[in-house]
Amino acid sequence: MSHFVIVGAGECGARAAFALREKGFDGEITLVGSEAIAPYERPPLSKASVLETLDPKFIASLEKYAESGIRLLSDVTAQDVDPVAKTVTCSDGSRLAYDKMLLATGAIARPLPGAAMNSAHIRSLRTHADAMALRKAMLPGKHIAIIGGGFIGLELAAMARMLCADVTVIEGLERVLKRGVPEDIAHVITQRHRAEGVDVRCGIAISALTEEGGKAIVRLSTGETIEADLVLVGIGAIPSTELAMRAGLTIENGIAVNEYLMTSAPDIYAAGDCCSFPLAIYGGRRVRLESWRNAQEQGTLAAANMMGVDEAISAVPWFWSDQYDMTLQIAGLSEGAVTHLRRDLGESAFMLFHLDEAGRLLAASGIGPGNAVARDIRLAEMLIAARAHPDPAALVASNIKLKSLLAA
Ligand SMILES: Cc1cc2nc3c(=O)[nH]c(=O)nc-3n(C[C@H](O)[C@H](O)[C@H](O)COP(=O)(O)OP(=O)(O)OC[C@H]3O[C@@H](n4cnc5c(N)ncnc54)[C@H](O)[C@@H]3O)c2cc1C
Repeated sequence: MSHFVIVGAGECGARAAFALREKGFDGEITLVGSEAIAPYERPPLSKASVLETLDPKFIASLEKYAESGIRLLSDVTAQDVDPVAKTVTCSDGSRLAYDKMLLATGAIARPLPGAAMNSAHIRSLRTHADAMALRKAMLPGKHIAIIGGGFIGLELAAMARMLCADVTVIEGLERVLKRGVPEDIAHVITQRHRAEGVDVRCGIAISALTEEGGKAIVRLSTGETIEADLVLVGIGAIPSTELAMRAGLTIENGIAVNEYLMTSAPDIYAAGDCCSFPLAIYGGRRVRLESWRNAQEQGTLAAANMMGVDEAISAVPWFWSDQYDMTLQIAGLSEGAVTHLRRDLGESAFMLFHLDEAGRLLAASGIGPGNAVARDIRLAEMLIAARAHPDPAALVASNIKLKSLLAA
């Protein structure tokens, strides 16, 4: 009987395991995960919408794994892969022989150089345990300092304000969300945080971050010192590639895979946050995405390809973030765009379309209350997938339905 081993029991690994069964794989499946609990969703860890619960949102119940014949090994780390003998050695002393393997090792939070990370007063946010530690400090009168004005930092700032903690966000660049979010949208988000009482400070570097006398002390390049009950370091993520690197696999901003999610070693696939891949809709440009839907889609695609389907990656990148009652959504990749067109959607919602020199739609981003932008972003995504060159005048005219552009 064939044995497929999946290393990494996160969004991607768990989805891949179930997808194998849904697609009719009848061999053995082992899902190996370092974390002590069953696979859970990470997005809720920083979302204020789930303030009422401290429980992890599990992807599936333990019964579902058992019923599906998926052997879930929690609290077990895959330490070494031998791609020639086709074995994986694990931290519990076991050695698993595989016919095919999927690496879905995800990413870890980027540490701040020189700081004692994950101590009593300095945390990052990647796991449920991190989220619990942060939540404990989010109390009225407590001061939370957030280093990094990225998605996780800003979502956490919103959560902390809703729990009545004082919040300072310190961003090194001249504005928040510099990576991948248009300035107009970042401006709306910054204004909202300020209106909610968050002290958002941009263009300030950190000279040192230490713990002293039961507090975290942030020393700024301006010479100022900020004292906080807790500091969240939210300065991005690093793909988990050590296992693949030790196995001799090609690494290129993540585990390098081809359009079928195959690594440089036979019968080893990689998917989700840990891998970089060529994206045909952008001329085969190699990208690495850190997004929930990408992890799901690639997990499902990897499962199909491990079963011999040979289907290439074709999905349009998509990301969302919730802050207060606002949702931001981005479809596509805007690098290379020279024209940025605005379409108002009412209810203080708007979208931006990003087009290249030839007028091809590369990306669309939108912000608004609740799911005000969801439908139009979905239509934009379809236009991007179709490599459409929509009429710019129609894109900005709110009375012309985007659906009609699809038909064109
Ligand atoms: C706080 C937070 C909020 C987010 N919010 C959003 C959002 O709003 N929208 C969005 O699109 N995306 C969001 N994301 C991103 C999204 O959650 C990730 O893209 C997704 O979880 C990636 O899934 P993955 O399975 O590739 O990696 P991960 O979820 O990181 O899972 C990888 C797993 O592999 C395990 N592992 C690693 N190495 C080994 C090993 N050697 N042996 C065994 N196990 C191993 C890890 O412990 C981990 O459990 C958020 C992420 C975080 C952290």
